[in-house]
Amino acid sequence: MKQFQYVRPANQQGVLAAIAQPGTKIIAGGSNLVDLMKHGVMTPDKLVDINKLPLRNISGISNGLHIGALALNSQVAEDQQVKTKFPLLSQALNAGASAQLRNMATVGGNMMQRTRCPYFYDTAMPCNKRAPGTGCGAKEGFNRMHAIFGFSDKCIAVHPSDMCVALAALDATVLIQGRKGTRHLKFADFHRLPGTTPELDNNLAKDELITGVEIPNNNFAQHSYYLKVRDRASYAFALISVAAALDIQNGIIKDARLAMGGVAHKPWRLTAAEQLLKGKPATVASFEQAAQVAMQGAKAFKDNAFKLQMAPASITEALTHAAGLV
Ligand SMILES: Cc1cc2nc3c(=O)[nH]c(=O)nc-3n(C[C@H](O)[C@H](O)[C@H](O)COP(=O)(O)OP(=O)(O)OC[C@H]3O[C@@H](n4cnc5c(N)ncnc54)[C@H](O)[C@@H]3O)c2cc1C
Ligand code: SF4
Repeated sequence: MKQFQYVRPANQQGVLAAIAQPGTKIIAGGSNLVDLMKHGVMTPDKLVDINKLPLRNISGISNGLHIGALALNSQVAEDQQVKTKFPLLSQALNAGASAQLRNMATVGGNMMQRTRCPYFYDTAMPCNKRAPGTGCGAKEGFNRMHAIFGFSDKCIAVHPSDMCVALAALDATVLIQGRKGTRHLKFADFHRLPGTTPELDNNLAKDELITGVEIPNNNFAQHSYYLKVRDRASYAFALISVAAALDIQNGIIKDARLAMGGVAHKPWRLTAAEQLLKGKPATVASFEQAAQVAMQGAKAFKDNAFKLQMAPASITEALTHAAGLV
């Protein structure tokens, strides 16, 4: 591993000043960044440890819930307010990684984790995300885990987070602090599609800090479900995941939220399927229709054609569970 400096500023001002310098990188739980540094994929000159900042709180706000960027994944998953008001988020977090990792991983770090594309991790291979302009090893190589939506000629990687799929479905807002002030970004606009700049995973500037996320109140707590399909029962990233949330009144769907993981460079919100579900009876037939609509525009590669069948089946299953029909 390349030698690096380490600082642990006592306050936010100190962090913002430190990350404005070139070659610096924030470290929170370290569970992704240190791995990437060991592989030589990320080579910062200086780590800026943000653990002294008071960003670990989970608290109710007038219209929802605030979660600090340093709240641990395990802490959020087990929080009583989260479990009661946003069980979808709790389920998604518990589907990720292992108990030990969830005890280290933070909300901000989870949002910023890098793709698990094996070519990105292997510095001997071409990868436009790791080394822009070198090509994409996965396109013609082994692409079983890769995208079926929103990919580009430059990169076909998927975003690996479970938590982010739930936060996209829950219409969360990301709170961001820079030296020029605070800004709020809709969760759906935080991560990016690869386009011609796959090296950029999201719309956070290099000198900005995520301070938290806010989730607005909703009526989905009774009818939500996070489904994760993976190779092993635990400790594996999603082949496909679905966050489904329904507001059902007298058997009719009043409102719906759907997002998928493991299919695109960002959590993939299924807005056309959500629209189709509104006003429909909460039946398997409605869910199958929504799943078909959700798949419009999907395209597979050599090794991931199975996702074209697995995705609609998973959407139907997640909605059926959310509706309480199984
Ligand atoms: C074996 C293994 C299995 C895993 N399985 C899953 C899984 O199934 N599902 C899943 O979702 N995740 C999984 N993970 C990923 C894990 O959830 C992430 O490693 C973790 O969430 C990252 O959080 P961290 O605090 O450790 O981030 P760090 O490693 O400290 O940082 C990650 C990145 O975030 C940046 N960063 C951190 N905090 C901030 C902030 N506040 N503002 C701006 N930038 C910031 C850092 O600069 C760095 O680039 C797995 C990880 C491992 C090692
Ligand atoms: S899919 Fe993206 S991350 Fe994977 S090799 Fe291609 S450019 Fe790199």
